[in-house]
Amino acid sequence: MEFRKLTEHVNYFDGVVNIGYVQSGDTGLLIDAGIDDSTVKKAVRYLRENEFPLTHLFLTHAHADHYGGAAFLRKKYGVITIAPKFEAAIMENPTIEPLYLSSGNDPLPETRNKFLEGPPVKIDRVVEEGTVQIGEVEARMITFPGHSYNQGGLVIDNILFAADSYFGPEYIHKHKIPYITDSSFHEASLHKLLDLKVLGAVPGHGVFEQDFKKTVRTNLDYYEKLTEYMKEWIREHGEVSHEELVAGMCRAYGVETQHVSAWLLYRTAVTAFANGLMRNGEVTFFIKESRLFFSLK
Ligand SMILES: [Zn+2]
Repeated sequence: MEFRKLTEHVNYFDGVVNIGYVQSGDTGLLIDAGIDDSTVKKAVRYLRENEFPLTHLFLTHAHADHYGGAAFLRKKYGVITIAPKFEAAIMENPTIEPLYLSSGNDPLPETRNKFLEGPPVKIDRVVEEGTVQIGEVEARMITFPGHSYNQGGLVIDNILFAADSYFGPEYIHKHKIPYITDSSFHEASLHKLLDLKVLGAVPGHGVFEQDFKKTVRTNLDYYEKLTEYMKEWIREHGEVSHEELVAGMCRAYGVETQHVSAWLLYRTAVTAFANGLMRNGEVTFFIKESRLFFSLK
């Protein structure tokens, strides 16, 4: 993890999941906490060695790779935790993620791992979209739904901490069908990014870019192609069961997994595109022989 300075106040630790750091006067604000204690400890060690303050932690959304180290930080350093509404509720009750991925069934032990469920963390302050004063740091929170229900990014000093509102190209190619919860909401969030006037952005996964809008457009192109492929697939088959759609899209995109946790994430990601098409009125659903089917409208 390397510490990268972006402006007088704004920095980030680059990593598999980036961790932001903003300092103003006596306020030291971390943005996200990595997947576990050992990840965030590396960032804290650097801050201590350089005598940077550490007083606050903003958590962008309730995915364990972003908040897994938060409970440790709050307990050990007494940081004030801040998060968007709804995401905060999940981080305080993190079994909700394996629960919702399991369609509401009590989650099986195989789904209760550090990738889907971080240690519970008390959120001291719940915030909504708009200006947020964090100690001596003035930030603007912007919500980016579509990857998680109420994910929040922060603009500070005209730099956007974008959370998982868009992904670096390597991340997309690694995951093939990136995790989203509704493609229509996610695409609306990508357009929201294109309208923003900032000097650059740090995504949750990827590198800081001044010209991040180019990457956002690459994301949009990728999702549009995936959506077209799904529509074509449904058109060819006439009607497709939910199970066939998940299996067919995973096969087409070269996704292979034996792990139930990963499979649950892909099931949600594929369903996100079907839901987006339904929300846009292009696809409809019906129940036949106790199965959920999709067809074009
Ligand atoms: Zn995420």
